[in-house]
Amino acid sequence: MKAYEVLVNHGLKRTSCREGIISVVMSSNQALSEEEIRSKLPGNYDRTTFYRSFKTLEENKIIHKIVVDNLLVKYAFGNPVPADSEHAHFFCVDCNTVQCLDSVHIDKPQLPEGYAYAGTDMIIKGVCNKCKAP
Ligand SMILES: [Zn+2]
Ligand SMILES: [Zn+2]
Repeated sequence: MKAYEVLVNHGLKRTSCREGIISVVMSSNQALSEEEIRSKLPGNYDRTTFYRSFKTLEENKIIHKIVVDNLLVKYAFGNPVPADSEHAHFFCVDCNTVQCLDSVHIDKPQLPEGYAYAGTDMIIKGVCNKCKAP
């Protein structure tokens, strides 16, 4: 899928900044921070334009946020799985990368009566396959 097709599928207007952000996160095999995404963009955008495009993509669930801790916040492309089956994320303690683990689904928990569910953030910590390789 091309970056502009993602925008079209979500009924969003095509802008070069939005398309740039999408292609950066789509082609990355690990989650990226806002700064990393911005520095990889083909064009130069001021902070406001970038931030607005970024928010739009996040609100439309084209990118999703992964909070490891308050110093480490990363973003990854879309949600290949349906929104009601969330996936876990993996944080490598060696190389500090964050990846989506699409194969590790999080089941909706059974909550006490009267509680509304809003999501689960699961960060699994360990050593990734690249760092583990001899
Ligand atoms: Zn690693
Ligand atoms: Zn993810």
